[in-house]
Amino acid sequence: MHSFTLCLALLAGGQASYGPLDGLKILKAADTQDHPSTPAPAGAVVLFDGKSTEAFQHRDGKSPIGWKVTPEGFLEVKGGDIVTKEKFSTPMHLHVEFRVPYMPKASGQGRGNSGVYVQGRYEVQVLDSYGLDSKDNDCGGIYGVAKPLVNACKAPTVWQAYDIDFTPPVFEGGKKVKEGVITVKQNGVTIHDQQKITKDNTTAGLGGNPAEGGPILLQDHGNPVQYRNIWVVKKTKAAADGGNAREEKLAGNPGSTVTPAGFLDRGNDEGMIRRVKDRIEDRSQNLLGKLRNRLRGR
Ligand code: MG
Repeated sequence: MHSFTLCLALLAGGQASYGPLDGLKILKAADTQDHPSTPAPAGAVVLFDGKSTEAFQHRDGKSPIGWKVTPEGFLEVKGGDIVTKEKFSTPMHLHVEFRVPYMPKASGQGRGNSGVYVQGRYEVQVLDSYGLDSKDNDCGGIYGVAKPLVNACKAPTVWQAYDIDFTPPVFEGGKKVKEGVITVKQNGVTIHDQQKITKDNTTAGLGGNPAEGGPILLQDHGNPVQYRNIWVVKKTKAAADGGNAREEKLAGNPGSTVTPAGFLDRGNDEGMIRRVKDRIEDRSQNLLGKLRNRLRGR
């Protein structure tokens, strides 16, 4: 590192390490245990698997990526924001594992800052907010939109996970008729539940037309935050959010379960199968009736 840059970093309290948490008050033992890694399910778009950064490009679309894969297979922030080459316009489930370094001399937004931007626009903040009364710019906050329902952060240096279910906003004739909706679990704890996204772009996002899809953006905020195991499951409109699945479950399929990704798993519920068969039969009878009437009318 250039000596001037190094001085600036030190002045800003920028020393960051993944070593011991000397001097940090640990609230409970589990806070120092990594959240288990969740493998990508079949059909997922794997964005980072510990090896290749091929799914990503620099935010500007032309410079090489400065982020490096560590010998352990972790993707470490460096040299500007990165975005996926693929743009996502459907509802999705996004899984991201991350950890923030220990920066005892830094504070606030200068401590382990990065971020996961859905469609390049909506930041789920990544920060060392361990033990804080979280605000909308703290870890898990939808930046400037909503603070997390609870602080579910682990200690710095410990692996954490976001499971993000996102439904894009709906536009008709260029007008937004429905806001985007986001549900976020941090380390398995729901920190946003069907939260409406009231902004078209959060701070430092890509902006652009919010009626169009966008990439996943990972933010470089000057701190060596690390990522591992990043994947997306694109969802159909019908399975768009856990809320829909939960409603369907409540509406008459008590034998079913809702998967972590928000899909309805009907199991082998005989009642549901019978109801679907009935519906198909009803529809066939209906169509046959219409056909008969048309033939008679000839
Ligand atoms: Mg950030």
